[in-house]
Amino acid sequence: MRDFKSEIRNVPDFPVAGIQFKDITTLIKDPQAYHEAIDELARSVEGKEIDVVVGPEARGFIVGGPLAYATHTGFVLARKPGKLPAQVARYEYQLEYGTDALEIHMDAITKGTKVLIADDLLATGGTAMAVVKLVESMGGEVVGLRFLIELEDLGGRKALEGYDVASLVQY
Ligand code: AMP
Repeated sequence: MRDFKSEIRNVPDFPVAGIQFKDITTLIKDPQAYHEAIDELARSVEGKEIDVVVGPEARGFIVGGPLAYATHTGFVLARKPGKLPAQVARYEYQLEYGTDALEIHMDAITKGTKVLIADDLLATGGTAMAVVKLVESMGGEVVGLRFLIELEDLGGRKALEGYDVASLVQY
């Protein structure tokens, strides 16, 4: 597999002191690296039955959109409050820094919809778990979660125990 780690920029103390920010803009501006990263994630879900990929705003769109395209599935947006125009389901959650909430259009996921969740990075798992809870509250079935990056010390995988979790790069 390509050395994706060397293409991710580490920015110390962003957005607040003590956070080692993993900046994927350096990876995704490289056409071959972006392409290979998405292809690698797509390979990791080969054989799975998936109806839609759900990606949380905003970096989840960067991973989830192309992953939906590559896997010939639909894409569903999980957005910050007030952004989606139609009726929504909502869930509030904790971040590594601060709190937030996510919304999904009510009609985007129905009973039995098979959902793959995708985001750029798994830290504490708070965001991913919020998406899981939101999807499940709508009747959807989470068939897996895929990330470009996993910060292993922050325990996201443990928070998502029982789900099929995979990432391309671990720190
Ligand atoms: P968490 O909910 O703690 O798993 O955090 C994951 C979300 O926060 C992802 O959507 C990331 O985009 C963002 N995030 C958290 N920590 C970092 C970090 N160290 N570098 C870059 N993004 C981060």
